[in-house]
Amino acid sequence: MSALISPKRLAVAALVALVLPAAACGTDKSASGTTSTPSPTATGSGTAAAPQDCPTAPVDVVVSVDQWGDIVSQLGGKCARVKTILASSSVDPHDYEPAPADAASFAGAKLVVINGADYDHWAADLARTSAPSAPVISAADVTKTPDGANPHLWYSPTAVGAVADAVTAELSKLAPQAAGYFGTERSDFATALQPYDSLIDKIKAGASGKSYAATEGIFDYQAQALGLVDKTPEGYQKASANESDPSPADIEAFRNALANHQIDVLIYNTQTEGSIPQQIRSAAEQANVPVVDVTETVPPGVTSFVTWQDDQLTALAKALGVTV
Ligand SMILES: [Zn+2]
Repeated sequence: MSALISPKRLAVAALVALVLPAAACGTDKSASGTTSTPSPTATGSGTAAAPQDCPTAPVDVVVSVDQWGDIVSQLGGKCARVKTILASSSVDPHDYEPAPADAASFAGAKLVVINGADYDHWAADLARTSAPSAPVISAADVTKTPDGANPHLWYSPTAVGAVADAVTAELSKLAPQAAGYFGTERSDFATALQPYDSLIDKIKAGASGKSYAATEGIFDYQAQALGLVDKTPEGYQKASANESDPSPADIEAFRNALANHQIDVLIYNTQTEGSIPQQIRSAAEQANVPVVDVTETVPPGVTSFVTWQDDQLTALAKALGVTV
């Protein structure tokens, strides 16, 4: 949902992209947004601590957005060269207009991974024109999520598992000699997800049936998986989903629900600006309703999907009084 991202923020993001392409080092991610995993080390490095080497040539993979990029990198390991097109949180994936360099990034891709559900339509288009023979894995296709549905599928634990399985299967088809390697990477990813799975189980056990409301619907799949009840006032929710501003009455309904403690926790997307989400946040704070920050894309300084999700889930558990 980008409804509440102000034009000002988009203008600033565009300006930053214009001004800073040569100054993209440091702790921030590349201003152009593209990152690559390090090239696989040459064979025969032979150190005891080195993970398994790739038994064949690595597969070139392009991923549209960084919410899926780290997952694919982990699954591919040394047997994939993963290029993530949008890896900068200053860019709104919903409204992204691809640059000519993005088309070049797709050329030569042997596998393309996108979110789908009209979230990153530009990537589906570029895959068709610039990597026409590459199979495309779409999280929306894998989970049978139609266009127009909530596209924030990386917040669905089921979608994460299903996409991981699809990626592993496709990589194994593309590089059959590395099928065993990819199988090991898939198990390692499942192991890496254990703290995430365990947080979800604990929150579900301790807080299922509690209520939440959200300034934007990005976290809704996860909230459903946790058994939380969505009490976001309907008018506000509809306006947000339709990319329009909620009416003063919708905002008032939200404030009242918070003030009357009909909502146990407010989920707040920190990557939107604008006065309306801030007003809602203030209303929650005044009513002592805990606020949990979430982000649409991987925040700067966080490099792993699991760390990103675990931090948010831990904060949510605390807000809901669940010991983890
Ligand atoms: Zn969104």
